[in-house]
Amino acid sequence: MDFSSKLLENAVYEISQLPGIGKRTALRLALHLLRQPKDQTERLSFALQNLRNEIKYCKNCHNISDVDLCEICANPKREESLVCVVEDIRDVMAIENTGQYKGLYHVLGGKISPLDGIGPSDLNIHSLVEKVKEGVVKEIIFALSSTMEGDTTNFYIYKQVSPFNIKTSTIARGIAVGDELEYADEVTLGRSILNRIPFENSLKS
Ligand SMILES: [Zn+2]
Repeated sequence: MDFSSKLLENAVYEISQLPGIGKRTALRLALHLLRQPKDQTERLSFALQNLRNEIKYCKNCHNISDVDLCEICANPKREESLVCVVEDIRDVMAIENTGQYKGLYHVLGGKISPLDGIGPSDLNIHSLVEKVKEGVVKEIIFALSSTMEGDTTNFYIYKQVSPFNIKTSTIARGIAVGDELEYADEVTLGRSILNRIPFENSLKS
């Protein structure tokens, strides 16, 4: 692509670094921004910079939050003995939308994936095991996607926490968990959390 302006070229390059955005789309977006009132673009760049600079991760569950302890963890009505293990914030949002779950979460920040060079130490697993050791957690619900990486991660955590005599369960497979938890419809997802099965049973099938 030949650009008459280095400024435009730079902007197009940066926009095209976003997932699913090719050079042509990036150019269309850049030109769109140029046609917008100046303060519109300023608000966009301010929001992005603020997001990047100010965002925090909850010190208890690693959920994205504006404060040290996220709203869910800070809510005294939530059962702190019940912890749902999820991959990222999109899963938290999906499960919260069901309105059926009253426990807390633990956001791993990914799944164990040796092919991508992601091992247990790259994820928030240690802090989960520590919470279990402290004795506050009585049940862990695995809600990772039912892929090989999800299964590997569940099993790794299961092995880590099984000496501590807590309940482990998994949300019913083949009903709620497709490839992406976020796409499961709310009624189905909510029902599968309520009808979760012991993790040991999921290993046999
Ligand atoms: Zn939290």
